[in-house]
Amino acid sequence: MTTTETRTYQNYIGGEWVDSVSGETYAITSPAKKQEVIGHFQRSNVEDALRAAEAADAARAAWADMPAPGRGQILYRALDVLERRAEEIARTITIEEGKPIADARGEVRRAMNIIEYSAGEGRRMFGYTTPSELASTVAYTVRRPLGAVALITPWNFPIAIPAWKLAPALICGNTVVFKPASGTPMSAVKLVEVFEEAGLPPGVLNLITGPGALVGNALVESPQIQGISFTGSTEIGTDIYARGARLLKKVQCEMGGKNAVILLADADLDKAVGGIVQGAFGSTGQRCTATSRAIVEAGIHEQFVDQLLDRTSRLKIGDGLDPEVDVSPLSSQYQQDKVLEYIGIGTEEGANLAHGGHAVTGGVYDEGYYVEPTVFTGVSRDMRIAKEEIFGPVLTVFEAQDLDDAVDISNSVQFGLSSSVYTRDLHRAHRYINTVETGMVHVNAPTLGGEVHLPFGGMKASGVGQREQGTEAVDFFTEVITVYIDYADEARTQARFI
Ligand code: NDP
Repeated sequence: MTTTETRTYQNYIGGEWVDSVSGETYAITSPAKKQEVIGHFQRSNVEDALRAAEAADAARAAWADMPAPGRGQILYRALDVLERRAEEIARTITIEEGKPIADARGEVRRAMNIIEYSAGEGRRMFGYTTPSELASTVAYTVRRPLGAVALITPWNFPIAIPAWKLAPALICGNTVVFKPASGTPMSAVKLVEVFEEAGLPPGVLNLITGPGALVGNALVESPQIQGISFTGSTEIGTDIYARGARLLKKVQCEMGGKNAVILLADADLDKAVGGIVQGAFGSTGQRCTATSRAIVEAGIHEQFVDQLLDRTSRLKIGDGLDPEVDVSPLSSQYQQDKVLEYIGIGTEEGANLAHGGHAVTGGVYDEGYYVEPTVFTGVSRDMRIAKEEIFGPVLTVFEAQDLDDAVDISNSVQFGLSSSVYTRDLHRAHRYINTVETGMVHVNAPTLGGEVHLPFGGMKASGVGQREQGTEAVDFFTEVITVYIDYADEARTQARFI
C-alpha cells in the first residue's frame, strides 16, 4: 500500500478540530486505486460521541434564539463557500467514493440546492392561525427546534445526503452531531469546513468519524440527542428506529430499495431503454434510487432486450475521474464481493446471464473494484436477485402479461422507494400511479432523481418516519406548539372539555 497523502483529519467538536480520545486513526483508500491511502481519520469511540452530543447540547439555546432569517444568512454564506469549492469537493467525492466526476458534480449541485432552499425557509417556516371556539381568544401554532439531533449517513452520497439533513436541521434551529459513513469521511470533513467558514457558531455542528456500531449507537442512546435522521441499510435503520422509539425520540430512516421500471408495449422504446440504462448503471448502480428491475410487457421483450444489450455493451468502464467514463468502480472490496456473490446466486437460481457478470481485470482495472454492467433475463419474482438489494450494476429483467401483472411484480418486494412506468397511455399511467407501492413515482423517466423542494423517501422497508426535504423537512426538524391567548379584560370562565 502506498501513501500519497498522509494528512490526518480530525473530529470537529465545539468549534475545534480535535483528535479522538483514544488517539486511534484509520486509513482510507480510493476505490479506483486501492493501494493508495488518501487520508487518515479518527477512529472515535463512545466517549467522543458523548462529548460531541454535550457540545451540541451546550450550543442549542443560543442557536435556537437566533432569529431564523439570521440562521438563513449563515446558510447563504455556506452556499457561497460551497460554490467556490465545488470542483475540489466533487473530485473528493470521486476519489473517495468512486462515482463518475459528472455525477459527483451533480451531487455538489444538489447540496447547493438544498442549502439555498433551506436558507429561504428561514423566512417562512410557517405556523398557522385559526379561529378559536372560545370568545376573545387567539389560537395559532409556532415551530420550535427539537434540540440536538444526530445525522447518520451512508457512503453513496457523501455530500448530498448529509447536506439534505444538515441544512433543514440548522435552519429550524437544531444543533447537530454528524456521523458520516466510515468509508467516506473526507467528504464529510470538507462539508463541515464549508459551514465552519460560513461562520456557524461553535458547537452548532459537530463531526465525529468512526465505527457506526460504537459511535452511531452512542448517539442514538444519548439523552442529549432529541432527534435522529438516518439514511442507510434497512437492517441498521430498522434497529435505530426501534431503539429511538423506545427512548421516545423523533426518528426518520431512509433505507434500501429494489426499484422497478415497468415498460408497457405502447411506450417510446428508445427513450425507455435510455432511462433504464442510466438508472441501472449510472453511479455504478450504487444509488438508493437505482433501477434494479425492468418489467417488460409481453410482445416487446425481445426487442427491448436487444436494444438494452446493445446500449449496455457500449458503456465505458474506468476511473471516475476520466470524464468519458460511464461506469466507475464499486466503492469498496466489500461492495465488489457482494455484487459478485449476487451474480453467482442469480446464475445458480437459473436466471439467464445475458451480459457481463464478471469483475473487470487486467492493467489499471486491477487497481480498482470494477464489475461489468450485468443483465439477467428470465428472472422470476421468487429469486433472491429479484427481491434483495444488490446495490451495484446489476439489472434483472422480467416479462409481464399486462399492466396489472407488472404492478404485481413491482409491488412483490419488501422495498418501496422509487418506481417508473414508460407508456403513452394516460389512463394506464394513472392506474399505475394509484397502485404502485413506492414513495416516489416517475412516468416516462428513470427511477432516479428528486428535487429539493419536494419530499423524498420511501414506503414499506424503504422508509419510516417523516419524509426528507420539501416542507416535510421542517415538519421533521421542529415541534409544533399550539398557543391559545385569552385577551379578554374581564374575569370569566368558559367551557373547556379537554
Ligand atoms: P449502513 O446501514 O451500513 O450504514 C449507514 C450509516 O449507519 C453509516 O454511517 C454507519 O456507520 C452507521 N451505522 C452502522 N451501524 C450502526 C449502528 N449500530 N448504530 C448507528 N449507526 C450505525 O448503510 P451503507 O452506508 O452501507 O449505505 C448503503 C445503504 O444506504 C443502502 O441500503 C442504500 O439503499 C441506502 N440508502 C438509502 C437512501 C434513501 O434515501 N432511501 C439513500 C442512499 C442510500 P459505519 O459506516 O461506520 O458502519
